[in-house]
Amino acid sequence: MAWKEIGNRQDAIKFWQAGAVGLFDRKNSICPLCEKQSVRFYAHHFSSDSSAIWSWCQHCKLWTVASNMKLWGEFDDPFSNAEISQYECLQQPSWIDRLDELWEAGTLPQYGRRIHKPV
Ligand SMILES: [Zn+2]
Repeated sequence: MAWKEIGNRQDAIKFWQAGAVGLFDRKNSICPLCEKQSVRFYAHHFSSDSSAIWSWCQHCKLWTVASNMKLWGEFDDPFSNAEISQYECLQQPSWIDRLDELWEAGTLPQYGRRIHKPV
């Protein structure tokens, strides 16, 4: 079964939130759609003010990405030194395959901590 991008914005937001909770709070967030598996996630800082977080459910085969946003947090990143082109990878189901393999291999999940937004 191929990965399918979530089309419904409300569902996509629930997935982003579940991914962020996993990343920063180290809690498994059950998939809001199937309630069978935890939402998996991968986050990357492209620059100081541009981040992305991919979230997917291995059971539903659904995924989404929130990009061009600022994730206020620090986390380890297996691709921190890699060239990830936003344009090439962001919307590619094959990228989710790659991330899911890393999850199965134990390279993911990443864990991080929130940092406070400067006032
Ligand atoms: Zn699911």
